[in-house]
Amino acid sequence: MLNALRKVIQEVNGAHHFDEGLLILVQRIREIVEAQASAIFLVDRRFAEFVLLATKGYSAKSVAEVRIDLTEGLLGVVAHKKEPLNLDNAVEHPQFVSMPALGEDAFAGFVGVPIIHQRRLLGVIVAQKKQAARFSNQEESFLMTLAVCLASEIAKAESTGAISQLVDAKSQSDELLYSGVPSSPGVGVGHAVMVFPTADLEAVPYKETQDIDGEIQRFREALTEIREEIIRLNKRLETSLSPEDRALFDAYLLMLDEHALGAEVEQEIQKGQWAQSALCKVIKLHVRHFSDMDNVYLQDRAEDVRDLGQRILAALQEEERKTPDYPDKVILIGEEVTAADLAAVPVGSLVGVVSATGSSNSHVAILARSLGVPAVMGVEDLALNKLESKLVILDGYYGHAYIDPSDIVLREFQRLAKEELQLNEDLKSLRKLPAETTDGHKVAMLVNTGLSADLGLSLNVGAEGVGLYRSEIPFLARELFPNLQEQQVIYKQLLNAFAPHPVTMRTLDIGGDKALPYFPIVEDNPFLGWRGIRFTLDHPELFLTQIHAMLRASIGLDNLRIMLPMISDVGEVEEALNLIHSVHSELLMEGCLVNMPEVGVMVEVPSVLYQIGKIAKKVDFLSVGTNDLTQYLLAVDRNNPKVANRYDSFHPSVLMALEHIVKEAHQENIPVSICGEMAGDPLAVLLLLGM
Ligand code: PEP
Ligand code: MG
Repeated sequence: MLNALRKVIQEVNGAHHFDEGLLILVQRIREIVEAQASAIFLVDRRFAEFVLLATKGYSAKSVAEVRIDLTEGLLGVVAHKKEPLNLDNAVEHPQFVSMPALGEDAFAGFVGVPIIHQRRLLGVIVAQKKQAARFSNQEESFLMTLAVCLASEIAKAESTGAISQLVDAKSQSDELLYSGVPSSPGVGVGHAVMVFPTADLEAVPYKETQDIDGEIQRFREALTEIREEIIRLNKRLETSLSPEDRALFDAYLLMLDEHALGAEVEQEIQKGQWAQSALCKVIKLHVRHFSDMDNVYLQDRAEDVRDLGQRILAALQEEERKTPDYPDKVILIGEEVTAADLAAVPVGSLVGVVSATGSSNSHVAILARSLGVPAVMGVEDLALNKLESKLVILDGYYGHAYIDPSDIVLREFQRLAKEELQLNEDLKSLRKLPAETTDGHKVAMLVNTGLSADLGLSLNVGAEGVGLYRSEIPFLARELFPNLQEQQVIYKQLLNAFAPHPVTMRTLDIGGDKALPYFPIVEDNPFLGWRGIRFTLDHPELFLTQIHAMLRASIGLDNLRIMLPMISDVGEVEEALNLIHSVHSELLMEGCLVNMPEVGVMVEVPSVLYQIGKIAKKVDFLSVGTNDLTQYLLAVDRNNPKVANRYDSFHPSVLMALEHIVKEAHQENIPVSICGEMAGDPLAVLLLLGM
């Protein structure tokens, strides 16, 4: 059954069109569960009805021919109970309602299973047999598992409009609406630019092209490059590999012949798609062809073809990277948009971010907020293949992305964007006023920063300094670890810009959802893994270089404060302090007149809650990282859109933790601030002021 399940899912996902996939599905269901008829009904929300979308074995043939109220008949029972219904004779069920257009009267045995995605009913899978008999437990389980596995594909088809196009040809509209987690407020209007990981055959989006000759040219160049690379490799290994082993290279070269694989890819390009997706299509076809073979030796060749495909793809992408082509207003869209993707867009061009993964407290969302750019994260049903270059409106307040919007929608959002601009203008008059309540209680208002592009924004909001500088951001946007001099320049620029106000620089906090392109850390639980101070203490050479650069940059300015991320016990604080003191002494010995900066600790790992007193005795300040503290206290992944509604910094446990931290720290006369996103949430500010 597991094999059958895998095969069906693979076939359905491999279908070019949604209706084709559904047809394969009903066909396979009929074969596997030994039914004489099967059907897929999906929910048409506009009319609160089920609509038949695919069938095999019933008399109804055409799609959308049969409709039934959501509460009616056996489908209504499945919908209401949200459970499978397995009957030996459908007609005998008190709620059976005949659907003459379907012709199900000829059948007796019935099984119906709901298709549910994120608690929402999307449809029902039905199978029937002529004789009066229940389906076996295994058959029922098979259908249930199938429904769970296919639910997200069906949700995707719903949000891309593929279902409504099938149901009602007249209602065809190009406008698509995607919803996700609202992650950075604002309205953005621009053109979609797809981002995707490189050298990954599965990640390349489909793109249409007008420049067929150009694409063919680029493809031929990549092919030549890889062919030459293989010839060189073959030569180099002449003496160390046997002729049999080297035969593989000859096989590669044969495949790379422009009359073989090359010709197939060019044929695909001729149909109007860019070289990258044409290549992926052909390679995947051959990989599947080899994997399906019974002979183990031939099955293994699938990996050779994939390897070859990846090499050509990497060569194609290398060329593309040298000449990026951005429209004036860019909405970045991708399965997983990264900090490096954001940093690559020319300053001023980025107007929005849409990511299939991540949530409102993912680091990319935080960066988007600091750039003042709207973002919608966790749009799980994104059909990435259809979005390139499309006009997009991003509504960061409600978490919506409108693709190819109608004129009415476009006008409405342009009006909103104008109002938003006006509101921001009006707020400017408050910038110079002190951050003080009407009864004279002063609050220090600091900014968070990391990208150099947001420096201008941070400087202009009337802040009294930097509460958190995420020093890893410049590391993420590079291709190698920056050296001491490079870091010193970056830090000096920031310290200078804010002097005499304090700038709290956090030491490198990579790991979690912040992976360096040149040092990927692959872990099963990255947020519980090698992160922040754990990583830098294991690599003192990186930590010491960074501290050196920070201290050198602060000479003559004296507004540097150093903060340690992901601390989970006193020992880590002691170790880090020792290293910082050693750098300071070294600089003094070199004759540099540098003051020892204040050093503080981030409170973001729950174990620290019970060591506040001890840690406070060793450092100058504490800062609460509510982003991580919330995720660790509530055991809710800050990056996972499926649990985004459970991620709550207003949770009583988080608030009690805050109260506890402040009480304990004040007993040691140590100041506490908050550097998590909570401090920038207007509602939280009222609460925190009250506390
Ligand atoms: C935090 O965890 O609250 C924090 C400020 O750090 P980051 O979001 O960079 O993990
Ligand atoms: Mg953190």
